[in-house]
Amino acid sequence: AKRNGRNQYEFFRCDMEEVARHRLDVETDLRQALTSHELLLYYQPIKNSANMALSGYEALLRWNHPTKGLIPPLQFIPIAEETGLIHEIGMWVLVEACREAMRWPPEQVVSVNLSPIQFGRRNLVDRVKGALATSGLAPQRLELEITESVLLDETQRNLETLRQLKQLGVRIVLDDFGTGYSSLRYLRTFPFDKIKIDKSFINEVCESREALAIVRAITSMSRSLDIETTAEGVERAEQVDLLQREGCSHLQGYLFGRPGRLDILDEGRVTLSAL
Ligand code: C2E
Ligand code: CA
Ligand code: CA
Ligand code: CA
Repeated sequence: AKRNGRNQYEFFRCDMEEVARHRLDVETDLRQALTSHELLLYYQPIKNSANMALSGYEALLRWNHPTKGLIPPLQFIPIAEETGLIHEIGMWVLVEACREAMRWPPEQVVSVNLSPIQFGRRNLVDRVKGALATSGLAPQRLELEITESVLLDETQRNLETLRQLKQLGVRIVLDDFGTGYSSLRYLRTFPFDKIKIDKSFINEVCESREALAIVRAITSMSRSLDIETTAEGVERAEQVDLLQREGCSHLQGYLFGRPGRLDILDEGRVTLSAL
């Protein structure tokens, strides 16, 4: 509760201090989280749309905070990016996800999100190589998901990094496609293996002519460029029929499974269990 008589400026400053204090708390806790094993990966299934077989999983980060409980990534990744902690966290995610994938059938792929900040470290390629070597995972079984912001700044340098990553044999995926302001251009700048059509389009694809037109444009263009497409955010069965018809090669969304912990059964069968 705020006292009467304070002017606008003081209110403003008060809020700023609160925000700053909150940041500092999160930063301190986040440093702790890495060493106390509070970070964990959830996995969400991705289906091959041609035969609806499981093609693999996307690793999605969660923070199991000792007092605040499970925290979603959008609440702490921006702070990890500002503080540089994302380098360490990102490496942990990579190694952990590769190790996990080693337990899956060999045709299944693991997708890992990379922050644009991680491209700021010169040794990113060596780190990825290291994660593959440590885990023993075949490079073709790793997909790295990036957003177009990687290509916005430091374009030449980051393109070179992407080329080197691709030379390792890993697959490069352009995430959140369609949300940026000049997305089409990026398909010419780098030979992406796959693009993920943002869930905002998939969400409306059955109702909105515009969304359908965009999905159709993306899939037909991808097909002619020999790029695979994942529709993300698939929640309803009617979307599946439409997206299969439009030629999306992969499907991901709550309809097939929410992100969850993976438990490997004795027979080697993989199931999802919500925490
Ligand atoms: P993203 O890479 O676009 O991941 C997809 C997000 O959509 C996930 O949210 C997922 O839970 C959610 N989602 C999946 N299917 C559906 C659906 O059918 N409907 C709806 N409404 N949502 C669906 P999540 O797990 O909260 O992750 C949010 C974002 O955090 C990710 O967006 C990604 O940008 C970032 N992120 C997550 N894990 C990592 C990580 O390990 N490293 C980095 N750098 N970023 C990460
Ligand atoms: Ca992603
Ligand atoms: Ca996405
Ligand atoms: Ca996103």
